[in-house]
Amino acid sequence: MKITFPHMGNMYLPVKAMFDDLGVEVVLPPKNSKKTLEIGTKYSPELICLPMKINLGNYIESIQKGADTIVVTGSCGPCRFGYFAEVEKEILKDLGYDVEFVVLEAPEGDMKELYRRISKIANTRNMVKIAKGLKGGIGVLKKIDKFEETVLRVRPYEKNKGEIDKLYKTLIKSLENSTGSQAMIELINEAQKHIEKIPIDPDRDVLKVGLVGEIYTIIEDFANIDIGKKLNDLGVEVHKSHTTSGWLLEHLFYNSIGSTREKDIRNAAKPYVKTMVGGHGRETIGHTILYAQEGYDGVIQVMPFTCMPEIVAMSLLPQVQNAYNIPIMTLIIDEMTGEAGYITRLEAYIDLLRNRRGKYKNEKMLSWR
Ligand code: SF4
Repeated sequence: MKITFPHMGNMYLPVKAMFDDLGVEVVLPPKNSKKTLEIGTKYSPELICLPMKINLGNYIESIQKGADTIVVTGSCGPCRFGYFAEVEKEILKDLGYDVEFVVLEAPEGDMKELYRRISKIANTRNMVKIAKGLKGGIGVLKKIDKFEETVLRVRPYEKNKGEIDKLYKTLIKSLENSTGSQAMIELINEAQKHIEKIPIDPDRDVLKVGLVGEIYTIIEDFANIDIGKKLNDLGVEVHKSHTTSGWLLEHLFYNSIGSTREKDIRNAAKPYVKTMVGGHGRETIGHTILYAQEGYDGVIQVMPFTCMPEIVAMSLLPQVQNAYNIPIMTLIIDEMTGEAGYITRLEAYIDLLRNRRGKYKNEKMLSWR
Protein backbone atom coordinates (compact mmCIF):
# COMPACT_ATOMS: atom_id res chain seq x y z
CA MET A 1 0.00 0.00 0.00
CA LYS A 2 1.48 3.36 -1.05
CA ILE A 3 -0.41 6.14 0.60
CA THR A 4 -0.90 9.70 -0.50
CA PHE A 5 -3.04 12.64 0.68
CA PRO A 6 -3.84 16.20 -0.43
CA HIS A 7 -1.67 19.20 0.43
CA MET A 8 -2.94 21.82 2.87
CA GLY A 9 -0.23 24.17 4.14
CA ASN A 10 2.48 22.40 6.14
CA MET A 11 0.18 19.50 7.02
CA TYR A 12 2.21 17.10 4.86
CA LEU A 13 5.03 17.23 7.44
CA PRO A 14 3.09 15.92 10.47
CA VAL A 15 1.25 13.40 8.28
CA LYS A 16 4.60 12.14 6.97
CA ALA A 17 5.92 12.01 10.58
CA MET A 18 2.92 9.94 11.67
CA PHE A 19 3.23 7.47 8.80
CA ASP A 20 7.01 7.26 9.35
CA ASP A 21 6.32 6.33 12.99
CA LEU A 22 3.80 3.72 11.85
CA GLY A 23 6.19 2.31 9.25
CA VAL A 24 3.82 3.07 6.35
CA GLU A 25 5.16 3.99 2.92
CA VAL A 26 4.05 7.46 1.82
CA VAL A 27 4.11 9.11 -1.60
CA LEU A 28 4.26 12.85 -0.96
CA PRO A 29 2.42 14.81 -3.63
CA PRO A 30 4.71 17.32 -5.39
CA LYS A 31 4.28 20.81 -3.88
CA ASN A 32 1.25 22.69 -5.18
CA SER A 33 2.13 24.46 -8.42
CA LYS A 34 0.59 25.92 -11.55
CA LYS A 35 0.85 22.46 -13.06
CA THR A 36 -1.10 20.89 -10.14
CA LEU A 37 -3.87 23.43 -10.58
CA GLU A 38 -3.95 23.01 -14.37
CA ILE A 39 -4.33 19.22 -14.05
CA GLY A 40 -7.04 19.56 -11.38
CA THR A 41 -8.93 22.21 -13.33
CA LYS A 42 -8.83 20.14 -16.52
CA TYR A 43 -10.61 17.18 -14.96
CA SER A 44 -12.89 18.87 -12.36
CA PRO A 45 -16.43 20.15 -12.87
CA GLU A 46 -16.04 23.75 -14.03
CA LEU A 47 -17.87 25.41 -11.11
CA ILE A 48 -16.56 23.26 -8.28
CA CYS A 49 -14.58 25.21 -5.71
CA LEU A 50 -10.80 25.71 -5.92
CA PRO A 51 -9.79 23.30 -3.09
CA MET A 52 -11.21 20.32 -4.97
CA LYS A 53 -9.38 21.30 -8.16
CA ILE A 54 -6.05 21.50 -6.33
CA ASN A 55 -6.74 18.26 -4.41
CA LEU A 56 -7.49 16.40 -7.65
CA GLY A 57 -4.25 17.73 -9.15
CA ASN A 58 -2.40 16.44 -6.05
CA TYR A 59 -3.89 12.95 -6.45
CA ILE A 60 -3.06 12.65 -10.14
CA GLU A 61 0.52 13.84 -9.57
CA SER A 62 0.91 11.36 -6.68
CA ILE A 63 -0.57 8.47 -8.66
CA GLN A 64 1.97 9.21 -11.40
CA LYS A 65 4.64 8.82 -8.67
CA GLY A 66 3.26 5.40 -7.68
CA ALA A 67 0.57 6.05 -5.01
CA ASP A 68 -2.29 3.53 -4.92
CA THR A 69 -4.26 4.65 -1.84
CA ILE A 70 -5.64 8.13 -1.14
CA VAL A 71 -6.38 9.14 2.45
CA VAL A 72 -8.79 12.03 2.94
CA THR A 73 -10.89 13.45 5.75
CA GLY A 74 -14.67 13.51 5.50
CA SER A 75 -17.16 16.16 6.47
CA CYS A 76 -20.83 16.86 6.92
CA GLY A 77 -23.18 19.80 6.70
CA PRO A 78 -24.27 22.00 3.82
CA CYS A 79 -20.90 22.35 2.05
CA ARG A 80 -19.44 20.59 -0.99
CA PHE A 81 -16.43 19.28 0.97
CA GLY A 82 -18.72 16.45 2.13
CA TYR A 83 -18.88 14.95 -1.36
CA PHE A 84 -15.36 15.74 -2.63
CA ALA A 85 -14.16 12.16 -2.08
CA GLU A 86 -17.11 10.61 -3.93
CA VAL A 87 -16.77 12.93 -6.94
CA GLU A 88 -12.98 12.56 -7.03
CA LYS A 89 -13.29 8.76 -6.88
CA GLU A 90 -15.55 8.77 -9.95
CA ILE A 91 -13.31 11.18 -11.88
CA LEU A 92 -10.19 9.10 -11.22
CA LYS A 93 -12.08 5.91 -12.20
CA ASP A 94 -13.17 7.53 -15.49
CA LEU A 95 -9.53 8.50 -16.12
CA GLY A 96 -8.55 4.84 -15.71
CA TYR A 97 -6.73 5.17 -12.37
CA ASP A 98 -7.20 2.17 -10.11
CA VAL A 99 -6.82 3.66 -6.61
CA GLU A 100 -8.48 3.10 -3.28
CA PHE A 101 -9.96 5.94 -1.20
CA VAL A 102 -9.92 5.79 2.59
CA VAL A 103 -12.14 8.46 4.12
CA LEU A 104 -11.16 9.20 7.73
CA GLU A 105 -14.45 9.80 9.47
CA ALA A 106 -16.77 7.83 11.68
CA PRO A 107 -19.77 7.16 9.36
CA GLU A 108 -22.92 7.91 11.38
CA GLY A 109 -20.81 7.97 14.55
CA ASP A 110 -19.54 4.41 13.98
CA MET A 111 -16.18 4.56 15.83
CA LYS A 112 -15.48 0.86 15.13
CA GLU A 113 -15.53 1.61 11.41
CA LEU A 114 -13.15 4.56 11.90
CA TYR A 115 -10.78 2.29 13.84
CA ARG A 116 -11.04 -0.34 11.09
CA ARG A 117 -10.06 2.26 8.48
CA ILE A 118 -7.12 3.56 10.52
CA SER A 119 -5.77 0.08 11.23
CA LYS A 120 -6.09 -0.75 7.54
CA ILE A 121 -3.92 2.24 6.58
CA ALA A 122 -1.49 1.63 9.43
CA ASN A 123 -1.41 -2.08 8.60
CA THR A 124 -1.67 -3.00 12.29
CA ARG A 125 -4.31 -3.77 14.91
CA ASN A 126 -2.00 -2.58 17.65
CA MET A 127 -3.90 0.33 19.20
CA VAL A 128 -0.87 1.46 21.23
CA LYS A 129 1.23 1.76 18.07
CA ILE A 130 -1.57 3.69 16.31
CA ALA A 131 -2.03 6.00 19.32
CA LYS A 132 1.74 6.68 19.44
CA GLY A 133 1.79 7.49 15.71
CA LEU A 134 -1.16 9.86 16.10
CA LYS A 135 0.41 11.52 19.14
CA GLY A 136 3.70 12.06 17.28
CA GLY A 137 1.91 13.53 14.24
CA ILE A 138 -0.19 15.88 16.37
CA GLY A 139 2.96 16.96 18.25
CA VAL A 140 4.67 17.96 14.99
CA LEU A 141 1.50 19.64 13.72
CA LYS A 142 1.09 21.84 16.81
CA LYS A 143 4.74 22.89 16.74
CA ILE A 144 4.90 23.71 13.04
CA ASP A 145 1.65 25.73 13.31
CA LYS A 146 3.10 27.66 16.26
CA PHE A 147 6.26 28.34 14.26
CA GLU A 148 4.28 29.64 11.27
CA GLU A 149 2.22 31.84 13.61
CA THR A 150 5.47 33.30 15.00
CA VAL A 151 6.80 33.96 11.47
CA LEU A 152 3.66 35.92 10.51
CA ARG A 153 3.78 37.91 13.74
CA VAL A 154 7.50 38.73 13.90
CA ARG A 155 8.62 39.05 10.24
CA PRO A 156 7.45 42.67 9.74
CA TYR A 157 9.62 43.74 12.72
CA GLU A 158 12.88 41.98 11.74
CA LYS A 159 15.94 44.23 11.57
CA ASN A 160 17.80 42.26 8.89
CA LYS A 161 15.29 41.61 6.12
CA GLY A 162 15.25 38.03 4.86
CA GLU A 163 16.62 36.43 8.05
CA ILE A 164 13.31 34.79 8.98
CA ASP A 165 12.64 33.61 5.43
CA LYS A 166 16.04 31.93 5.38
CA LEU A 167 15.41 30.23 8.73
CA TYR A 168 11.94 29.07 7.63
CA LYS A 169 13.19 27.64 4.32
CA THR A 170 16.07 25.81 6.02
CA LEU A 171 13.69 24.34 8.59
CA ILE A 172 11.24 23.06 5.96
CA LYS A 173 14.05 21.47 3.97
CA SER A 174 15.46 19.74 7.08
CA LEU A 175 12.00 18.50 8.04
CA GLU A 176 11.41 17.10 4.56
CA ASN A 177 14.71 15.21 4.79
CA SER A 178 14.12 13.83 8.29
CA THR A 179 12.28 10.70 9.40
CA GLY A 180 9.82 10.32 12.27
CA SER A 181 8.10 12.70 14.68
CA GLN A 182 10.87 12.85 17.31
CA ALA A 183 13.49 14.12 14.85
CA MET A 184 11.03 16.67 13.45
CA ILE A 185 10.01 17.97 16.88
CA GLU A 186 13.67 18.54 17.79
CA LEU A 187 14.29 20.49 14.57
CA ILE A 188 11.22 22.70 15.10
CA ASN A 189 12.16 23.34 18.76
CA GLU A 190 15.60 24.51 17.64
CA ALA A 191 14.14 26.81 14.97
CA GLN A 192 11.57 28.20 17.46
CA LYS A 193 14.38 29.11 19.87
CA HIS A 194 16.29 30.72 16.99
CA ILE A 195 13.37 32.82 15.70
CA GLU A 196 12.69 34.22 19.15
CA LYS A 197 16.25 35.57 19.25
CA ILE A 198 16.21 37.24 15.81
CA PRO A 199 16.86 41.00 16.22
CA ILE A 200 13.67 43.04 15.81
CA ASP A 201 12.69 46.70 15.87
CA PRO A 202 9.71 46.75 18.29
CA ASP A 203 9.04 50.46 17.67
CA ARG A 204 8.34 50.02 13.97
CA ASP A 205 4.89 51.26 12.93
CA VAL A 206 3.38 47.90 11.96
CA LEU A 207 -0.31 47.34 11.21
CA LYS A 208 -2.23 44.29 12.42
CA VAL A 209 -4.57 42.35 10.11
CA GLY A 210 -6.62 39.19 10.73
CA LEU A 211 -7.30 36.69 7.95
CA VAL A 212 -10.73 35.06 7.98
CA GLY A 213 -12.60 32.92 5.48
CA GLU A 214 -12.56 29.47 3.96
CA ILE A 215 -10.17 27.19 5.82
CA TYR A 216 -8.27 25.76 2.83
CA THR A 217 -7.56 29.13 1.27
CA ILE A 218 -6.45 30.52 4.64
CA ILE A 219 -4.04 27.67 5.37
CA GLU A 220 -2.70 26.78 1.88
CA ASP A 221 -0.36 29.55 0.77
CA PHE A 222 -0.39 28.43 -2.88
CA ALA A 223 -4.18 28.97 -2.93
CA ASN A 224 -4.04 32.36 -1.20
CA ILE A 225 -1.07 33.51 -3.33
CA ASP A 226 1.08 33.72 -0.19
CA ILE A 227 -0.97 36.50 1.34
CA GLY A 228 0.75 36.24 4.75
CA LYS A 229 4.21 36.95 3.32
CA LYS A 230 2.88 39.68 1.00
CA LEU A 231 1.26 41.49 3.94
CA ASN A 232 4.36 41.04 6.13
CA ASP A 233 6.43 42.63 3.33
CA LEU A 234 4.00 45.58 3.36
CA GLY A 235 4.70 46.08 7.07
CA VAL A 236 1.70 44.19 8.44
CA GLU A 237 1.57 41.68 11.28
CA VAL A 238 -0.78 38.85 10.29
CA HIS A 239 -2.89 36.39 12.22
CA LYS A 240 -4.65 33.49 10.48
CA SER A 241 -7.99 32.53 12.01
CA HIS A 242 -7.52 28.89 10.94
CA THR A 243 -4.70 26.43 11.48
CA THR A 244 -4.67 22.72 10.73
CA SER A 245 -3.96 21.88 14.38
CA GLY A 246 -6.85 24.12 15.49
CA TRP A 247 -9.21 22.42 13.03
CA LEU A 248 -8.10 18.92 14.00
CA LEU A 249 -8.24 19.48 17.75
CA GLU A 250 -11.62 21.21 17.40
CA HIS A 251 -13.00 18.14 15.61
CA LEU A 252 -11.31 15.55 17.77
CA PHE A 253 -11.64 17.11 21.22
CA TYR A 254 -13.04 20.61 21.57
CA ASN A 255 -16.42 19.87 20.04
CA SER A 256 -16.96 17.18 22.65
CA ILE A 257 -15.75 19.24 25.61
CA GLY A 258 -17.10 22.60 24.33
CA SER A 259 -13.97 24.77 24.04
CA THR A 260 -14.23 28.34 25.30
CA ARG A 261 -12.59 29.85 22.20
CA GLU A 262 -15.07 28.07 19.90
CA LYS A 263 -17.95 29.20 22.12
CA ASP A 264 -16.65 32.79 22.04
CA ILE A 265 -16.50 32.73 18.23
CA ARG A 266 -20.04 31.37 17.90
CA ASN A 267 -21.44 33.73 20.54
CA ALA A 268 -19.84 36.72 18.81
CA ALA A 269 -21.41 35.67 15.50
CA LYS A 270 -24.87 35.01 17.00
CA PRO A 271 -26.49 38.42 16.33
CA TYR A 272 -25.69 38.00 12.60
CA VAL A 273 -25.83 34.26 12.02
CA LYS A 274 -27.54 31.95 14.46
CA THR A 275 -26.93 28.62 12.85
CA MET A 276 -24.27 26.68 10.98
CA VAL A 277 -24.15 27.73 7.33
CA GLY A 278 -21.61 25.11 6.23
CA GLY A 279 -17.84 25.33 6.00
CA HIS A 280 -16.67 28.09 8.35
CA GLY A 281 -19.12 30.81 7.29
CA ARG A 282 -20.35 31.41 10.83
CA GLU A 283 -16.76 31.42 12.16
CA THR A 284 -15.81 34.07 9.58
CA ILE A 285 -18.30 36.46 11.21
CA GLY A 286 -17.28 35.49 14.77
CA HIS A 287 -13.54 35.79 14.08
CA THR A 288 -14.02 39.21 12.42
CA ILE A 289 -15.85 40.54 15.49
CA LEU A 290 -13.20 39.17 17.86
CA TYR A 291 -10.41 40.73 15.75
CA ALA A 292 -12.24 44.08 15.88
CA GLN A 293 -12.62 43.80 19.66
CA GLU A 294 -8.92 42.92 20.00
CA GLY A 295 -7.92 46.16 18.24
CA TYR A 296 -6.81 44.84 14.83
CA ASP A 297 -6.52 47.50 12.11
CA GLY A 298 -8.37 45.43 9.50
CA VAL A 299 -9.71 42.05 8.45
CA ILE A 300 -9.36 40.30 5.09
CA GLN A 301 -11.78 37.57 4.06
CA VAL A 302 -10.24 35.06 1.65
CA MET A 303 -12.52 32.64 -0.19
CA PRO A 304 -12.69 30.48 -3.30
CA PHE A 305 -15.05 31.52 -6.10
CA THR A 306 -18.51 29.84 -5.66
CA CYS A 307 -17.90 28.96 -1.97
CA MET A 308 -21.44 29.02 -0.62
CA PRO A 309 -20.72 29.37 3.15
CA GLU A 310 -18.35 32.28 2.55
CA ILE A 311 -20.83 33.97 0.20
CA VAL A 312 -23.32 33.93 3.11
CA ALA A 313 -20.64 35.42 5.39
CA MET A 314 -19.64 38.01 2.77
CA SER A 315 -23.22 39.28 2.57
CA LEU A 316 -23.19 39.89 6.36
CA LEU A 317 -19.73 41.42 6.69
CA PRO A 318 -20.79 44.99 5.67
CA GLN A 319 -23.09 45.07 8.75
CA VAL A 320 -20.18 43.90 10.95
CA GLN A 321 -17.90 46.52 9.35
CA ASN A 322 -20.33 49.31 10.25
CA ALA A 323 -21.15 48.03 13.73
CA TYR A 324 -17.50 47.51 14.76
CA ASN A 325 -15.89 50.27 12.66
CA ILE A 326 -13.29 47.97 11.13
CA PRO A 327 -12.40 47.96 7.41
CA ILE A 328 -13.00 44.54 5.83
CA MET A 329 -11.86 43.47 2.38
CA THR A 330 -12.89 40.29 0.55
CA LEU A 331 -10.56 38.48 -1.87
CA ILE A 332 -12.18 35.85 -4.08
CA ILE A 333 -9.77 33.37 -5.62
CA ASP A 334 -9.99 30.93 -8.49
CA GLU A 335 -7.67 29.48 -11.14
CA MET A 336 -7.96 32.72 -13.17
CA THR A 337 -6.74 35.00 -10.35
CA GLY A 338 -3.74 37.06 -11.46
CA GLU A 339 -1.02 37.93 -8.95
CA ALA A 340 -0.47 41.54 -10.14
CA GLY A 341 -4.12 42.58 -9.63
CA TYR A 342 -4.16 40.80 -6.28
CA ILE A 343 -1.07 42.70 -5.04
CA THR A 344 -2.56 46.02 -6.20
CA ARG A 345 -5.70 45.39 -4.15
CA LEU A 346 -3.63 44.48 -1.08
CA GLU A 347 -1.48 47.60 -1.42
CA ALA A 348 -4.53 49.86 -1.79
CA TYR A 349 -6.16 48.30 1.27
CA ILE A 350 -3.01 48.64 3.39
CA ASP A 351 -2.68 52.31 2.30
CA LEU A 352 -6.23 52.86 3.51
CA LEU A 353 -5.47 51.24 6.88
CA ARG A 354 -2.28 53.29 7.27
CA ASN A 355 -4.08 56.58 6.52
CA ARG A 356 -6.81 55.63 8.94
CA ARG A 357 -4.31 54.87 11.72
CA GLY A 358 -2.52 58.17 11.03
CA LYS A 359 -5.84 60.03 11.21
CA TYR A 360 -6.69 58.47 14.60
CA LYS A 361 -3.22 59.32 15.94
CA ASN A 362 -3.66 62.98 14.88
CA GLU A 363 -7.13 63.13 16.41
CA LYS A 364 -5.75 61.75 19.69
CA MET A 365 -2.89 64.27 19.70
CA LEU A 366 -5.33 67.15 19.08
CA SER A 367 -7.60 66.01 21.90
CA TRP A 368 -4.59 66.08 24.27
CA ARG A 369 -3.90 69.78 23.63
S1 SF4 B 1 -16.06 25.65 2.38
FE1 SF4 B 1 -16.44 26.46 0.33
S2 SF4 B 1 -14.58 26.13 -0.82
FE2 SF4 B 1 -14.44 24.88 1.00
S3 SF4 B 1 -15.25 22.94 0.32
FE3 SF4 B 1 -16.97 24.03 1.19
S4 SF4 B 1 -17.93 25.07 -0.54
FE4 SF4 B 1 -15.89 24.41 -1.20
